[in-house]
Amino acid sequence: MQVAPGPGAAPIYTPRVRHHVDYALARRAVLGDLRTGRRDRLDVCDAQPELLRAARNIAEPLDGDCPVCGSADLVLVSYVYGDALRRANGRCIDAGELARLDATQEEFSRYVVEVCPDCHWNHLQRHELHGRRHAG
Ligand SMILES: [Zn+2]
Repeated sequence: MQVAPGPGAAPIYTPRVRHHVDYALARRAVLGDLRTGRRDRLDVCDAQPELLRAARNIAEPLDGDCPVCGSADLVLVSYVYGDALRRANGRCIDAGELARLDATQEEFSRYVVEVCPDCHWNHLQRHELHGRRHAG
């Protein structure tokens, strides 16, 4: 499912992003399963050490509380993938690096993961296409 970002978009949206996939429905399904007991908390709060490190060091704060533990420390971690990214391929980046790659790369993918450093809840929130090919 591809939709264009519209009005009321969260601050994490950058103006350059034209194509993205939103995983909000999957998130709601997971949280619904947690509430009804079809999944337990260990299944959904399983962030790996590397992701938790990124969440503490180069993440963007997210408005809103953790849907599992209620912590206010919820953050977004961005990973980028692309054949031409070389050193940055598969790495976790901050907003400055994202802007630099947007300006210099033809095309790459950005995966945005919602992470709670307190209870280790994590969920892929969105996938975006970036780079000059997708710039306005
Ligand atoms: Zn939490």
